[in-house]
Amino acid sequence: MIFIKTEDELNLLRESGQIVAKALGEVAKYIKPGVTTKFLDGIGEETIRSYGAIPSFLNYNGFPSSLCISVNEVVVHGIPSESIVLKEGDIVSVDCGALKNGFHGDSAYTFCVGDVEPAIIELLKTTKESLYKGIEEAIDGKRIGDIGNAVQEYCQRRGYTVVRELVGHGVGRSLHEEPEVPNVGKRGSGVRLKQGMVIAIEPMINMGTRHVVIENDGWTVRTLDRKPSAHFEHTVAVTKGQGAQLMTSFEYIQQVLGDRFI
Ligand code: MG
Ligand code: MG
Repeated sequence: MIFIKTEDELNLLRESGQIVAKALGEVAKYIKPGVTTKFLDGIGEETIRSYGAIPSFLNYNGFPSSLCISVNEVVVHGIPSESIVLKEGDIVSVDCGALKNGFHGDSAYTFCVGDVEPAIIELLKTTKESLYKGIEEAIDGKRIGDIGNAVQEYCQRRGYTVVRELVGHGVGRSLHEEPEVPNVGKRGSGVRLKQGMVIAIEPMINMGTRHVVIENDGWTVRTLDRKPSAHFEHTVAVTKGQGAQLMTSFEYIQQVLGDRFI
């Protein structure tokens, strides 16, 4: 069942999305060598709760934390830990969800820790750009496959690979609703997009092989070859003609990072 959101519901989704955006902006202030991912999780949770929202991921299918924090070869679903200490040259994906007024927001950003190798910065840039290529396709009358195709073509043309085991999704009263939003696809295939659909688009793009494995903790997804992976995500509403409306935003991250915003 795909839920079409009313204008009032879109306003609530936008409110939740803005809380996520602010939490990511707050976390951005603390990303530097020596910081543990557990500490960042605390910042995210505190910020979410300060707006009267609940962290969407906490206890989701038993997930133990408020944020998913995934370093270097970890693609997604990294569990924050006292023993994971960020170091110069790392990349770290922070994925955040917040629930307020019965609706979720969901967004992710991959940050650089200090100075990062130019080749890895290129991976981040390409992944982020591919997210916006996908968002451009989220228009009434287009299809889910148009989004996946735009992301896939953009990344593969630049020599990267696309993770297929994990996908974007509808967002609403549940964190994960129908339809699935893969990052690969054929033009003109899949579910037809309709005004009022709200979806999370979230490319997960690898430097080496596209294949991934799940660690023994049952959550952490990493690349098979341990080469770096990047992840960017926005929750967006499908509209007519105009291109999708963003429910989430990277503007608070941009304010914090300034010149270092890529
Ligand atoms: Mg997410
Ligand atoms: Mg998501």
